[in-house]
Amino acid sequence: MGQLRHSDAREREQGSARAIAAPLRAGNARPRSSARLNDTFLNAPIGILLIDFDGTVLEANPFAEDMLGFTPGALDRTLLETLVPREAAITLLSDLKTVIRQGGRVCRSEWQLHARDGSEVWANLHLMVHRSDHDAPLFGIVLLADITDTKNSQRAMERLAFYDTLTDLGNRRLFNERLTQTVERSRRDQSRAALLYLDLDQFKRVNDTLGHDSGDQLLCEVAARLVSCVRSVDTVARTGGDEFCVLLEDIASPQAAAEVASRIFEVLKQPIRLGHHDIGVTTSIGITLIPDDGTDPNQLLKNADLAMYRAKEQGRNNHQYYSESLHAHLSHRLQVEQELRQALARSEFSMVYQPVVETATGRVIGFESLLRWGHPELGTLAPGDFITIAEDTGIIIDMGRWIMQQVCEDAVQLIRHAGRPLSIGINVSPRQFRDASLVSEIEHAIARTGIDPRHLEFEITETMLMHDIETTSAMVHRLAALGARITIDDFGTGYSSLNYLRKFPITAIKIDQSFIRDIPTNGDDSAITAAVIAMAHRLHVTVVAEGVETTAQQRFLVAQGCDFAQGYLFGRPMPITDACAAIAPRALTSATPTSAAAASAQ
Ligand code: C2E
Ligand code: CA
Ligand code: CA
Repeated sequence: MGQLRHSDAREREQGSARAIAAPLRAGNARPRSSARLNDTFLNAPIGILLIDFDGTVLEANPFAEDMLGFTPGALDRTLLETLVPREAAITLLSDLKTVIRQGGRVCRSEWQLHARDGSEVWANLHLMVHRSDHDAPLFGIVLLADITDTKNSQRAMERLAFYDTLTDLGNRRLFNERLTQTVERSRRDQSRAALLYLDLDQFKRVNDTLGHDSGDQLLCEVAARLVSCVRSVDTVARTGGDEFCVLLEDIASPQAAAEVASRIFEVLKQPIRLGHHDIGVTTSIGITLIPDDGTDPNQLLKNADLAMYRAKEQGRNNHQYYSESLHAHLSHRLQVEQELRQALARSEFSMVYQPVVETATGRVIGFESLLRWGHPELGTLAPGDFITIAEDTGIIIDMGRWIMQQVCEDAVQLIRHAGRPLSIGINVSPRQFRDASLVSEIEHAIARTGIDPRHLEFEITETMLMHDIETTSAMVHRLAALGARITIDDFGTGYSSLNYLRKFPITAIKIDQSFIRDIPTNGDDSAITAAVIAMAHRLHVTVVAEGVETTAQQRFLVAQGCDFAQGYLFGRPMPITDACAAIAPRALTSATPTSAAAASAQ
């Protein structure tokens, strides 16, 4: 039978506890029960220390030795030498006194201890006092329950709840907590802090083109670089897919936040290697100041988000501070956005039609369809007031569907009234053009209305054509395959070369109004217009001049051989009924080159 190990390697001054513990060790008091006790002591899956009242360790079981990192038999010290940190031992000894004084109560405490090798051991310590038959305290018993595993999984859970597993940064929850603390601190210390809200520009494109693994890698690299831009007291968190928040504590001036923003732009500019690609990252940053702009954490997050949104609007890769006027601007935008969403359901949109004429004769060869919004309070709005918002928010996609259907219906009417073929222009904005369902929407509209697609002319801008050449080219070819024609709108405002346009099945270009406005008086504009017309003709592309308002402009264009023209001189955009009346053969019999202008309604 195993003997309890003697703790006495060195000659210790003897206390009463040792005298009492001795029979237990010798196993001679109650032999049968002692043997069982002994066994329990040796094999218990819990650490047991017997201590005397001055803190000397009388006995330690193997579990305790193992837990505290002592080799078997080596734990032969005082409690102060055994437990690291010493506070654990000091607390136990003071608890011991209390327990002795107050009777057999058990004291519990939880400690993060360090084993001999420095490793971390979490322990629940139970302290009790063994007493004699006459209730005299004999020695203390310390039970050490190892709760390291529980603690670790608890901590892992906390990490999951407060940290982002991909980047190891704090998550939104952690950020919100820190933000609350920061607001509190700024109030207490009268200090100023800043909240930066970052959204990576075009991150979706990386994800879509290089795959999610590359996207993840990019996010991790961005996270590390962001951390490198701030001090250790500051917080960087990943609060959404490609959204990060930075909290700058105790900044000297509002300018300090902009300096950090510049540093961020700078570090992100250095290319990030993803597979075989080097990617430069840009970001838009919104900044709000605490307490200057508010002290409510939710409001502050909203402020910074709004400012970030504004930074995106300003062309990305820049920062914007939150301000009251910004707030007003964006609330207006938000209001328009909400109203736009309802406008479709409330049938507030309509199409107007502006005639396109043969430049020399004024004979109407078609119409361009233009969108109008009959706003319940503001009256009729032109696209300039809302089309960018519709684009940015994607509402344009639903609007576009309605436009296609409406214009195809109207085109059938117009052609019937004219009793001859007409070309009906439909403007397509960049967002619509990138939408894969555009062509099928058009096919639907064609099928439902029975319009011959050869009468349809899609107007896309030069910039759109050059932007994403592969996608655009595929789309242009699909539209051409339907039999429809493609016109380049606002020609001259972008960077395309006429030669390049040959690669696309383009039938016409529309020279932008800005060139037409000052002809023939402005020599440069006149020269450009003349050159564009000549070159287009050499490439068998017809030319439409936009915004023709005077007969002088018309004469100049006729002299240059410009095929078609459009402008207030020939007719303003008008509702479908007026356009039908204007195009009917009877109305045209007495037409002079400019008489369509008289029929204009708007
Ligand atoms: P755009 O395609 O260049 O359309 C020509 C614009 O010039 C129209 O403005 C038209 O009313 C105006 N205009 C026509 N003749 C003259 C003139 O002699 N002088 C002057 N100063 N202006 C003239 P509107 O209707 O306000 O449309 C503005 C822009 O909105 C259009 O430019 C087009 O890019 C876009 N848009 C219009 N309708 C639609 C639509 O149904 N869908 C899409 N996606 N965009 C549209
Ligand atoms: Ca147009
Ligand atoms: Ca145009």
